[in-house]
Amino acid sequence: MGKNLAIIGGGASGAVAAILASREGLKVSVFDGNSALLKKLHATGNGRCNLGNDYFEKDCYYGDVERAFNIFHRFSPEDTFRFFNSLGLFIKDIRGYLYPLSESAKTVVETLEAEIRSLGINVITNSKVVRVDRLNKGFKLTDSEGKTYEFDACILCTGGNAAPKTGSDGVGIKLALSMGHSIVKTVPGLVPLKSDDEKLKTLAGVRAEGCISLYDENNSLVCRESGEMQFTDSSVSGIPVFQISRVANYLMLDGNKVYLKADFFPGADEAFRESFLLRKLMLHDRNAKEFFTGILNDRLMEVILKEAGVDPLKPCEDIKNDELERVYDLCRNLKFTVKGNVGYDKAQVTAGGIPLSELDHNLQSLKCEGLFMAGEIINVDGKCGGYNLQWAFSSGAVAAEGALNYLKQGR
Ligand SMILES: Cc1cc2nc3c(=O)[nH]c(=O)nc-3n(C[C@H](O)[C@H](O)[C@H](O)COP(=O)(O)OP(=O)(O)OC[C@H]3O[C@@H](n4cnc5c(N)ncnc54)[C@H](O)[C@@H]3O)c2cc1C
Repeated sequence: MGKNLAIIGGGASGAVAAILASREGLKVSVFDGNSALLKKLHATGNGRCNLGNDYFEKDCYYGDVERAFNIFHRFSPEDTFRFFNSLGLFIKDIRGYLYPLSESAKTVVETLEAEIRSLGINVITNSKVVRVDRLNKGFKLTDSEGKTYEFDACILCTGGNAAPKTGSDGVGIKLALSMGHSIVKTVPGLVPLKSDDEKLKTLAGVRAEGCISLYDENNSLVCRESGEMQFTDSSVSGIPVFQISRVANYLMLDGNKVYLKADFFPGADEAFRESFLLRKLMLHDRNAKEFFTGILNDRLMEVILKEAGVDPLKPCEDIKNDELERVYDLCRNLKFTVKGNVGYDKAQVTAGGIPLSELDHNLQSLKCEGLFMAGEIINVDGKCGGYNLQWAFSSGAVAAEGALNYLKQGR
């Protein structure tokens, strides 16, 4: 066909786009500012690459969700698994979370790299694209060293602002803005929340199962997630906190104050409460500190007794009922202040980005013909659980098909 396509950014979406476009006969070049492609993919899923999920519904996504699902209908999770199978990579299901059979992100990177190599795709590494100019026909790209390249079409796959050490430092978003796009304000997503709570000095390093709820300044419950919470001396973290961080960050961006409440007995009923309160009778010869042995982490217990105003050495039989009620209530509602988030460096995803309303059904720019976009640069982000990679893969595939059709029409 002879038409050439530039993929700017060789991450998850760019790699899939490059492979699918090249298989259809386009001459594809992938630019990446790093010395190798797919740097972020190595770090995904704690090095295991959680690339999908059995549960796949609109409530797993934020941003332009309705339009994103038009893209998922074009290239579905099943299409993604077929794509990986076609590369020889098998997928396994661990309690609904999908991983490569090897449980190694490195093997996903190597599989994609091998296909890119075998298709003869032109890979240009250490080349950060800093300028994109629309020509009469096609585009001129300029990299940070001043080298220029010309292409018939291009796909912007540069990611957002999250984890900039992996290459996605927001330059791609600036390129999109320079081509006439607007942006839905971005905030870090899937990120620990900062807190200046004194009790974190005691809790640093503690992990505890439970439920964490986000409240706004009117004390209204905003959202709630369950799982393992993790505490550092200045942040509240863990997957349930990641899941609610995006919502918290947008509220704070709008000037709202928010706070968290942790429930370490989620789902506990009245019978549990009564047995908790009666425990004091059973353990009458122990002290308040020993009361918790086998129930809660000892440092968590220390914090709760302190907030309840109960001396840890007080004999159980001397603990008054209202003190015990306070202790129980704190186990269900331990409050944490929120003072922002730890920033893009530690975020797994960018919330916000280029609105899908500025791209057509093929992810072609409505502002600049021949420019396509895919991945995290777009205003779509998912919860933890494989949803962000799924978006990167599906949008990369649809943008590749769109670019192919565009170039077939002789543009
Ligand atoms: C630690 C961590 C763990 C994660 N784990 C998971 C997980 O298990 N499951 C999941 O679904 N999601 C996970 N994610 C999120 C997921 O990795 C991203 O959403 C996804 O990689 C986004 O793909 P992308 O192609 O849009 O961007 P990226 O993968 O970020 O790739 C963008 C590429 O573009 C390059 N680039 C940027 N600007 C330029 C430029 N101007 N010129 C040239 N090249 C450029 C970058 O170097 C980079 O290689 C994780 C993220 C992190 C940080």
